[in-house]
Amino acid sequence: MTVMDGLKGAAATLRAADKIPEYNAILDAQQKIFDLQGENQQLKNKLAKLDKLKNVDFEKGHSWMIDPKDPDRKLCPICTQKNDIRHPLNSMNYCNVCKRGYE
Ligand SMILES: [Zn+2]
Repeated sequence: MTVMDGLKGAAATLRAADKIPEYNAILDAQQKIFDLQGENQQLKNKLAKLDKLKNVDFEKGHSWMIDPKDPDRKLCPICTQKNDIRHPLNSMNYCNVCKRGYE
């Protein structure tokens, strides 16, 4: 039995016994758990994205990122982090996606 199933059973018992404040407390706890589960999933998703990017390093003294799979390739850090895809800069160190230039 999951925690949520246990709370559901407890809520039904309290409701049947007319223990309304206790019943409401269980409903509040269920909602809180539901909200925290959603928040937890969002954080897991963010961590998964960061894990994918952890091998991408910023080159010292510059704002662009260097692609570890191709050290000659410079990446747009904004688009790479935002879209979770490696976005290369052109030869002018300009990103054609977000229209930013890098130095
Ligand atoms: Zn960009």
